[in-house]
Amino acid sequence: MTVLWWARRDLRLRDNPALCAAAADGPVVPLVVIDPALFGDGARPRDAWYAASVLALDEQLDGGLHLRTGTPADAVLDAAREAGATAVHVSRETTPFGRRRDAAVRSRLAEHGIDWVETGSPYAVTPGRVTKADGSPYRVFGAFQRAWHEHRWPAPARPGTPLRWAAPAGAAEPVRRSLREAVDACTVPLPPAGEDAAARAWDRFRADDLPRYADDRDRPDLDTSSRLSPYLKVGAVHPRTLLADLRDTGGEGAAKFVSELCWREFYADVLHHHPRSLRHDLTDALAGLEYDAPGDDFAAWQRGETGFPLVDAGMRQLRAEGWMHNRVRMVVASFLGKDLHHWWPHGAAHFLDLLIDGDPASNAHGWQWVSGTGTDAAPYFRVFNPTAQAEKFDPRGDYVRRYVPELRHLDGSAALHPWKHPDGYAHGYPTRIVDHAQEREETLLRYRRARGK
Ligand code: FAD
Repeated sequence: MTVLWWARRDLRLRDNPALCAAAADGPVVPLVVIDPALFGDGARPRDAWYAASVLALDEQLDGGLHLRTGTPADAVLDAAREAGATAVHVSRETTPFGRRRDAAVRSRLAEHGIDWVETGSPYAVTPGRVTKADGSPYRVFGAFQRAWHEHRWPAPARPGTPLRWAAPAGAAEPVRRSLREAVDACTVPLPPAGEDAAARAWDRFRADDLPRYADDRDRPDLDTSSRLSPYLKVGAVHPRTLLADLRDTGGEGAAKFVSELCWREFYADVLHHHPRSLRHDLTDALAGLEYDAPGDDFAAWQRGETGFPLVDAGMRQLRAEGWMHNRVRMVVASFLGKDLHHWWPHGAAHFLDLLIDGDPASNAHGWQWVSGTGTDAAPYFRVFNPTAQAEKFDPRGDYVRRYVPELRHLDGSAALHPWKHPDGYAHGYPTRIVDHAQEREETLLRYRRARGK
């Protein structure tokens, strides 16, 4: 019996439990639906990245991917009926949007007697599975991480039977064309897309940077993190594959990398249990905190013109590459919340507009962690000093000079404080839009008021 494999955040053929389960059922029609509710007009960098990743999968299948646009409840049903499929196989989605969408598709298929089969998820451990002994979810990363390790993760999936592909029905060419247009119109240079490119990036990272990862991952100037986030985002590689590859690798680098993958799993788990945390404070620790309305200062932050070199370099890297180093994400998020006093969802939305790895769970909870409204135990009084952060993590100013041309005439760490140099502003770099020490005091005052102290 022919079955559909509907690929969403699992755009790969290897280590794919949903595809293996489909293959065990019969010849497989591989399907991708371009849902306007997610894809929009294709103008955001992450849409272009998704488009490039879908095209790479199509190429791997020699143009055999069945492509449709439209509301999934209609598009999946139509594709299943045209193929004469008896079942639709997917990997489980646990985001609020994915759950709502899948419930609608599933009930539509059921009306037509077509089965819905979920196998695996985009995570090593499906969100919701790691719980305390009483079944309640973890709220603190350290405890979640211990339980996640104890839970273990399955070995990479291999098909039990050889894959047999069924010829897709329908004309995919117009969809293919619109995906190509989205890629061509993309405003940032996209990394090479697809499963093989992801595997190459992983091999390169393991050979060159993993041994020093524990020491260097916080250094944006060295740029030695894996840059796998865009591939993990679309499922061109699965974390289970990475964990299996690291099983026999000792050392601090590998341990730290596993722990970073666990943060991704933790945030997906938090979202699974608290769907509102996507747009609202996870905890009420800071309920009633006064925020300012975004104005010119917010626009300056978006453009990378705050006068704080590390903040500006980060925001310009985001615009230029659709990606930003993790340490700098924390610094610019702290700056928006604690120097400019804006509520984190404004910044999170801007990130999602520009990041190619934009992931609702990691983004919202990364922002909330910095803002003191999320999973960190006592973070509200932690206010990053953007200049001290620059001195520590970009000590020679290389990262700042890479993204801020107006500071390239300043050698070494001079680029981190143009205000100390007579010609610091000679090339039009803006002066600081706020006084950090003052804004820090203001933040702490607002926190004390919100907490009634
Ligand atoms: P590496 O250091 O090589 O880490 C390997 C993988 O581990 C990453 O690809 C990622 O999947 C995961 N990981 C690493 N750090 C984190 C973390 N702090 N939280 C969750 N997962 C992590 N990550 C996203 O994938 N999408 C986002 O939209 C996103 N938004 C963020 C917003 C803020 C404010 C902050 C502070 C962090 C955000 N992160 C996000 C997490 C992190 O910044 C990126 O995952 C990381 O920079 C990606 O680069 P890399 O692949 O080289 O990471």
